[in-house]
Formats: sequence, structure tokens, C-alpha cells
Amino acid sequence: VTDVFSKEKRSEVMSRIRGKNTTPELKVRSMLHRMGYRFRLHVADLPGKPDIVLPRYKTVVFIHGCFWHRHRGCKLAYTPKTRAEFWARKLFENAKRDEEAALMLQALGWRVITIWECEVDKHEKLEWLANLIKGAEDYPSYAT
Ligand SMILES: [Zn+2]
Repeated sequence: VTDVFSKEKRSEVMSRIRGKNTTPELKVRSMLHRMGYRFRLHVADLPGKPDIVLPRYKTVVFIHGCFWHRHRGCKLAYTPKTRAEFWARKLFENAKRDEEAALMLQALGWRVITIWECEVDKHEKLEWLANLIKGAEDYPSYAT
């Protein structure tokens, strides 16, 4: 785990040196922007305050940090050993909140797409996102 973070940290530092803002959310945004999508950011009047909202496609996109939002099966989603109980509860509540927001959004007719921090650098994943938004692919429901 320590190795994973130090590697992440190193690339974060490197990207700052190069003068680019490379947070996962900004990467996804700039990709969508390049492809000509119009979207709104951090829409507070929708459940869960989605990071990116594409009204024309009735689609919302969450870009989730793997640790805070509990990416299942991801090595970044570990539970800290100190104050383990505090963290377990807090992180569980985060994930629960996400799930509830997704279900509410779906009930309101929105398509919910979650992109995990660890997936953002996978080029294929972003192409997949673009196809998805265009309606070329179907997205499984959040619950599955
Ligand atoms: Zn992950």
C-alpha cells in the first residue's frame, strides 16, 4: 500500500512540475471538452452533487477517489490501521451515500456513470465513456 501511494505521489509531484493540472476529474473534463460535450459541474440540486452533468444526454458522471469512495477490490481502497473503527464507519458511510445518490438519480431518470480514479489513465476507459454518452453502448445499472 505504501508503495502504491508513493508512486501516485511521485507522479502527482511530477505533473505539478510540468505545470499541468492532472487530477482525475480535470482529465475527464478536458477529454469531454475536447470532444465537444457541453456539461455542467458540481450540480448541487441533484442528489450526490454529481461532478459532471450532461443534460442533453440525461447523464451524470461521478469521478470518485478510490480510497474515499471505496472502490471495490481496488488496492487504493484500503482501511487505515490506526483508528480503524473510525475509518471503517466513515468510509462505509461515504459508499452508502454514493449508492443512495445513484439510486435517487436513476429514479429521476438519469443515467449514472462512475469513473474511478485508478481508471482515468486508461485510455480505453475514456473512449468507452465517450461511446456511452453518445448512446453507442448501454451502461449496466449502478446496483449490478
Ligand atoms: Zn480504484
